[in-house]
Amino acid sequence: MSQTARKTPDTELSQFRVKGEIPVPILINWLTTVAVPLLFFFAWRSSLRDDSVTPPLLLGFAVLLTANSLVYWLSDNKTLQRRGFITLISMLFTYLAVHAVEDGSAIIWLFAYPPIIFYISESRVGVAACSGGFAAVIFLFSPLGDMLFEPPYNASFRLTMIAVLGFEMVTCYILDQSRRRSKLGLLKLAAEFEYAAKHDALTGLANRREALEQLDAEYQRYLRNARPFSVMLMDIDLFKSVNDNYGHHVGDELIILVAQTLREQCRKVDTLARWGGEEYLVLLPETSPDQALQTANRIRQAIAEASVSTGQGVARATISVGVATTRGSESIDRLLQRSDEALYQAKTEGRNRVCGYNSEAAA
Ligand code: GH3
Ligand code: MG
Ligand code: MG
Repeated sequence: MSQTARKTPDTELSQFRVKGEIPVPILINWLTTVAVPLLFFFAWRSSLRDDSVTPPLLLGFAVLLTANSLVYWLSDNKTLQRRGFITLISMLFTYLAVHAVEDGSAIIWLFAYPPIIFYISESRVGVAACSGGFAAVIFLFSPLGDMLFEPPYNASFRLTMIAVLGFEMVTCYILDQSRRRSKLGLLKLAAEFEYAAKHDALTGLANRREALEQLDAEYQRYLRNARPFSVMLMDIDLFKSVNDNYGHHVGDELIILVAQTLREQCRKVDTLARWGGEEYLVLLPETSPDQALQTANRIRQAIAEASVSTGQGVARATISVGVATTRGSESIDRLLQRSDEALYQAKTEGRNRVCGYNSEAAA
């Protein structure tokens, strides 16, 4: 985890699924499984009516829909599967309406189109496909459509069909918008909970639990690649007297100031955590003891120079730092214990200083 809080954009969030939501590829495969026998059935029925075009066409659609699912099965390409499916059902429904399959009653299948399109594609694709379909139906029912296709639909059927189809498309759009907003709300809530579980509310730094997770992850990397990492444990000096002299709220401001200084002084790869009340832990990946001591001293100096203004004048803080670097296969607990011992040494040697484990005071 990087040291700064990461905000997840809406577009990125919308790609996640919430629990219970049917994945689009599975829905498409399911629809294909239902559609193929139906296509066979209506192809057979059309063959009884001396219709030489419809049976091979419906069987062709059945084969293409099956092939589309097979290609997804082999390639795992969700976009290709979705686009293939939308293209095929758009063509199929157009044919059913224009060719007046089943004495023209097959045009009723158009009502299945809006909910499917809105579910499996982005909102704007759903709007575009439904608007296009609606315009096509109006064209088919217009005098020009009569001249080109001779559709067998009477006037009242046309009127009802247009009204109901338009009504259904608008309803599908509203329900889809509501579904997408609820999903986004849920995902944002989950992201906020996750953030709160990993961060300290006052400073925005990682909390102790998250720091331990990062330590464990870094330790596993260290065991694999043997590149040592360092840990700095720091504690604000004589902080009780800050609270006593200036009040708790100034104490809080100083805690935030130290966190801010850490952000400015550390690398993006470092983990910065509030370890306890006025204690911080910094995890420095791939950092030698000398580099860690240098960094710690730079931080110590920056904090000593920073201040917050209060009603009773300027308040400052200094910190003491204990530094330890991984050695052999010692445990994380032992590493933390060594940095704590170094911090204790820095305190006993007079505070506002950096001590490395087994090294002399560095300031
Ligand atoms: P030392 O140099 O030995 O560390 O002295 P100290 O006074 O800092 O030591 P101690 O650990 O005894 O005191 C820490 C104080 O920090 C006590 C506690 O009231 C205060 N503190 C802990 N968390 C917070 C916080 O979130 N806000 C404020 N304002 N104070 C806090
Ligand atoms: Mg303390
Ligand atoms: Mg202290």
